[in-house]
Amino acid sequence: MAQHAAPPTPTTPVVPAELPLRDIAPWAVFFGILMLVLLYFVGAEQGATSVVSGEDVHEWVHDARHLLGFPCH
Ligand SMILES: [Zn+2]
Repeated sequence: MAQHAAPPTPTTPVVPAELPLRDIAPWAVFFGILMLVLLYFVGAEQGATSVVSGEDVHEWVHDARHLLGFPCH
């Protein structure tokens, strides 16, 4: 025997909000560029292709480099 504290209310169908491609495109481009910069620092920031001198950036992303299978040492 089920007892309800409040009478059930009629439910309205849930309609997902529309996300036009025009609104998403700038964010997709921004995060795409951000991911490419991150991929550069993880995968190529070393030696002759180094933008930042020294080994600091390389050491910070060293584990990620090995995790992703980039050649390192
Ligand atoms: Zn390494």
